[in-house]
Amino acid sequence: TKTVTDVVCPFCGTLCDDLEVVVSDDGKQLLEVYNACAIGAEKFLHSQAEDRLTRPRLQQEDGSWKDVTYDEAIEYTAQMLASSTKPLMYGWSSTNCEAQGVGSEIGEITGAVMDNTATVCHGTSLIAVQDIGIPHCTLGEVKNRADRVVFWGCNPAHAHPRHMSRYSIFPRGFFTGKGHKGRKVIVIDPRKTDTANVADVHLQIEQGRDYELLDALRVAFKGLPLPDVVAGIPKEQIYEAAEVLKSGRFVIIFFGMGVTQSLGKNHNIDEAIAVTRDLNEYTKAAIMPMRGHYNVTGSGAVWGWQFGFPFAVDLSRGFARYNPGETTSNDLLRRGEVDSVFVLGSDPGAHFPFSSVKKISELPSVCIDPHQTPTTAVCKLHVPVAFVGVEIGGCAYRMDNVPIETRKVVEAPEGMMTDEEFLEKVLVRIKEIKGE
Ligand code: SF4
Repeated sequence: TKTVTDVVCPFCGTLCDDLEVVVSDDGKQLLEVYNACAIGAEKFLHSQAEDRLTRPRLQQEDGSWKDVTYDEAIEYTAQMLASSTKPLMYGWSSTNCEAQGVGSEIGEITGAVMDNTATVCHGTSLIAVQDIGIPHCTLGEVKNRADRVVFWGCNPAHAHPRHMSRYSIFPRGFFTGKGHKGRKVIVIDPRKTDTANVADVHLQIEQGRDYELLDALRVAFKGLPLPDVVAGIPKEQIYEAAEVLKSGRFVIIFFGMGVTQSLGKNHNIDEAIAVTRDLNEYTKAAIMPMRGHYNVTGSGAVWGWQFGFPFAVDLSRGFARYNPGETTSNDLLRRGEVDSVFVLGSDPGAHFPFSSVKKISELPSVCIDPHQTPTTAVCKLHVPVAFVGVEIGGCAYRMDNVPIETRKVVEAPEGMMTDEEFLEKVLVRIKEIKGE
């Protein structure tokens, strides 16, 4: 056997880059994964699953599946996209930037709407950043400097398991030599989560009242009067939390879907950014979204430089339009505005409302995914591909916008295509069909 070091985990936005993977001498079998959390390790090990699909399959009238060749799958996908007036090309968060780039080109020549998982996650954060900017930093700075750590509406103990040990709570950094002991951790969450259990302060906010509490913190920073209770939190606790934050040398606020997708949405994030800006009057402070899929950040970065917008990009008029609420996937599906659906690197079947999933099942649809998922179950064509970050490398962006090159550690089963190869071939075929 041999050990591959400095392997990057292609699961969550923490993008841990210190994994060690043991593979067989011929590089065909992945045997052990070290340093990863349980979900990260499972992603690697799943590439070795015995029941893994290695050939595309087409759903028949009676719901059964028929194996087809990659060439047939390329033809089906190209014909579907070329003949659509307004295809929806959704996902893009669990693949590399190279594939995202080819996908964008297909979107451009077919007049598609390009949308990624931010649409149901941190899209509201991106809108807020466009509104008022963001005081940002890297996770390296958090590790080395942060002595006040806030987790607002997120639960990294479950969703980003190594985040706390690598960057935010436990590690000893250059100016944070005492590790956990030198940091004060505040968790704001209506639930008593496992992250709340390791916090110094847990503000058990009432569900959906984030904007009020954020606003109250800004009042408390200035020492102005507050009502006795705000968002279910007694004012004494709010003044106390404000003092803890102001007295730090470096404050980092991490936030998740508990704030981005609850009442107030992007306005919550406007206010959270304003809290961070206010804190910079007293100390150094930064704020960071806890991005979920390992390369959702990269998808926003690629589209940002290609189209000027990070998600919900409508190319159907021959130029890039962006209007969340109109050009976002669920709104388009609900209004019946798209006539085919292409999914890559995401599982809307598991995360979209039932009405949207039903719409996908009624439309011509293709899903590119190494796994069998609720989405592959409703799409007409399922194309299994090599695992990015396991069987093929490529660029991915960590949640703090740092690009990291993922590594290939094991061979894909013989004859399997990668996302990028499949998309390249579809692009060539669409150009032929369109006579370009
Ligand atoms: Fe992978 Fe995220 Fe776990 Fe790190 S924390 S090993 S990136 S799943």
